[in-house]
Amino acid sequence: MSCNVCPRMCSGDRLRGGGFCGASDVMEVARVWRHRGEEPPIGGERGICNVFFSHCNLQCVYCQNHLISSRKCLSPTLRGVAEVATEVERVLGESEGMLGLVTPSHYGHLIPELVERLWEDGVRPTVVWNSGGYDSVEMLRRVEPYVDVYLPDLKYMTAEVAERYSHAKDYPEVATAAVKEMARQKGSALLCDERGLAFRGLVVRHLVLPGEVEESKRVLRWIAEELPGNVHLSLMAQYYPPEGLELPDNLRRRLSEEEYGEVVEEMERLGLGKGWVQELASSESYRPHFGEQETFS
Ligand code: SF4
Repeated sequence: MSCNVCPRMCSGDRLRGGGFCGASDVMEVARVWRHRGEEPPIGGERGICNVFFSHCNLQCVYCQNHLISSRKCLSPTLRGVAEVATEVERVLGESEGMLGLVTPSHYGHLIPELVERLWEDGVRPTVVWNSGGYDSVEMLRRVEPYVDVYLPDLKYMTAEVAERYSHAKDYPEVATAAVKEMARQKGSALLCDERGLAFRGLVVRHLVLPGEVEESKRVLRWIAEELPGNVHLSLMAQYYPPEGLELPDNLRRRLSEEEYGEVVEEMERLGLGKGWVQELASSESYRPHFGEQETFS
C-alpha cells in the first residue's frame, strides 16, 4: 500500500510500516483511556474516552507522547477497528460520552469505519478530532460527517521553525488551511450543552515552546486576523523536556514566566478573549505515563 493519507504524502509502504509515520495498514492504538482534558468542556467531570493512536505523521523532536508516537514506539495494545471499537465502548460507559481521537491524521481513512461501528451498536458519542493540525482538507471533508468537535494544534507560522521541530516546512500552509476548513465545517465557536460539555465546534490549541515566543505571537496574530472573533483558543504552557530525546538547547528547559507572560500579553492585546490559558505550573502536572497504569499524573 503506497500511502498518501496525510499531507506528508510520503508514498510509504504501510504494509511494512515503511512510511514516515511508521504506521501499518491496520489501525493500531497504544491506549484507550479516560482523561479529564485540559479544557473543561472537553471531558467534564468524568472525563473523555481518549484513543491514543500509535505513531504520528509529525514526529516532533520534542514530542511529549514520543513513547507511543515515534516510529519505534511501544507495542500497540489494540489492533484493528473491531478491537478498538470494543474497548472504546467499554471506556465510553465510564466517561462523559465523548470520544477523543488523539492524533488521528494517519488513520483518517479508517475513522469512518470506527465511528460507523459504534453507531451500529447504538453508541453515539461526541467525536473530538484532536490532531497536530497537519491534516489535509481532503481528509477533513471525508471525516466531516463523523466528527463533532475539532481540537487541532496550531504549532508554527514559519517554514523554517516547522522544519526544525516537525520536519514539515509546509506545516504553516497545511495547518492554517486545515483550521479554516474545520471552522467552515463546525463553526469557529464552541457550542456546549446544559452540562457545559462541548457538542460541536472548534478549539485551537497552541503550545508555547521555550525560546519561541515570537513564533507563538505569529500564531496568535494569524488566529486573530484570519478566524472569526468567537474562536476558542487554548493556550498551553505544559511543555517540559521529555527524557530520552535529543533536544535543541532551547527545548532542554521549561518555559519561563517572562516568556509565557509575553505571549499571554499578546493574546490579550489581540482581543482573543474566548478559551483557556493554562497555568505555567501545568508542566508539572500534565505528564503522560504511557507505560504505566494511568495516562496522566
Ligand atoms: S499517513 Fe504516514 S505513511 Fe501515509 S503519507 Fe502520512 S506519513 Fe506517510
